[in-house]
This record gives sequence, C-alpha cells and structure tokens, in this order.
Amino acid sequence: MVKQSLLVATNNPGKMREVSAILEGVPLRLVAPAELGLELDVPETGATYAENARIKARAFAAQSGMLALADDSGLEVFALGGWPGPHSARFAGRGSSDQDRCEQVLRRLAGLPDEQRGARFVCHVAVADPREILVEGEGVLVGRIARTPAGTDGFGFDPIFVPDGYTYTVAELPMQVKNAISHRARAIATIRPFLLRLARSPRLGSTTDSSGR
Ligand code: IMP
Repeated sequence: MVKQSLLVATNNPGKMREVSAILEGVPLRLVAPAELGLELDVPETGATYAENARIKARAFAAQSGMLALADDSGLEVFALGGWPGPHSARFAGRGSSDQDRCEQVLRRLAGLPDEQRGARFVCHVAVADPREILVEGEGVLVGRIARTPAGTDGFGFDPIFVPDGYTYTVAELPMQVKNAISHRARAIATIRPFLLRLARSPRLGSTTDSSGR
C-alpha cells in the first residue's frame, strides 16, 4: 500500500514518541530525521511558538523534499510573567539538562504556595511542504508547578508539572493519559482532519510501506 510520508521535524526522542502515539490511527508513514541521515539544527530565531514552528517545518521540508510536521512548545509560569515561554529549551544555556531547567524553575518559585504556582504548557504545530506552510494549530495544558520533581516518564518539565484536575505530575501519569490531555495532543487534534485528508491523497514523498504504519 502506498502511504504518504510525513517527516517529524524533531531531534527530541521524547517528542518523536509522543507524536507517533498521538498520530496512531492516522495512516501516514512517520519518518524521523535520523532515518534520512538528516542532521538539522535549526536556529529558533522566532519570537513566538508559531514563528519557530513555521521556521522548523519549512527548513525540514526544504532539506528533505518531503512534507514536514514541526512543533514548538514551552512552559509559561504565570507568577514569572510567562517565563521561560518560547525559550524553554534554551534559557539555562547550552549543555544544560532537563533536570537543570526544572531546578531553576523550582528555585524561582521557592516558598510560593500552590495557588501562586499556576503555569501552562503551550504547543504550536505547523505542517509544510518544500514551498509553503499548509496548516497550523495550537494547544494548551493548564496546571501548576509541583513543590519537588516526581516521576520518570516523559521529558522536559514533566516531573514538575501537575495538570489541573490531577494530583500527579505528568511524569507520573501513564503515557496514554498525557497523550489524551497534553498541549501537543490538543495542537495536533486541530490539524488531524487535514492529516487524514493528506493520508487519503498522497502527492509528496510517498513510499511503499508494508508495515501497516
Ligand atoms: P522546543 O519545542 O523543542 O523548542 O522545546 C520546548 C521545550 O519546552 C522542551 O525542551 C521542554 O523543556 C519544554 N516542553 C515542551 N513540551 C513539553 C512537554 O510535553 N513536557 C515537558 N516539557 C515540555
């Protein structure tokens, strides 16, 4: 069966896993940059998630000649004026780890009670072909920053983020729960009808695939 291929424009294995799980049931062949030998470190020079998602989707589509789906996401802490926002991956400097970034957020909120620890995750997704952006969407997950890190699943700030309506951090929740409520799942849900149409009308970068994915 000929399936439309979609390059998932991320070098983050945690994101790749999530996007694959969220797109379960959409008959597209998802391709990771590493499968193409593509090593692209796209500078995120945009001021917003939307700009950065578009920059990444365009760059990966242009380099590969394929359709590419990119996301840009971040954590916004309300008591800190929305910091770190679109700089979530980079504010602690090159070479810093997820753990370093979680510790910095916890330090900046030290002593604040739960009601002042509100935060949200935001995700913007964009799909591009080598010429233009084809579709975009955004999703949000509201919650609060925990007092201490907990849990080992997920990535990034998952060990310190407790979604509204839950008492556990995202890193403690089963992956299926995260993928039902997350900012990324919600952003991708808005473009799901487009992706289903795309899957029915192959045109770019199609491959023959017998694996069923
Ligand atoms: P980017 O979208 O790759 O530029 O980076 C987003 C950064 O925001 C990640 O490195 C994480 O630190 C954080 N982030 C985005 N989405 C999530 C998530 O689902 N869980 C935890 N942290 C996230």
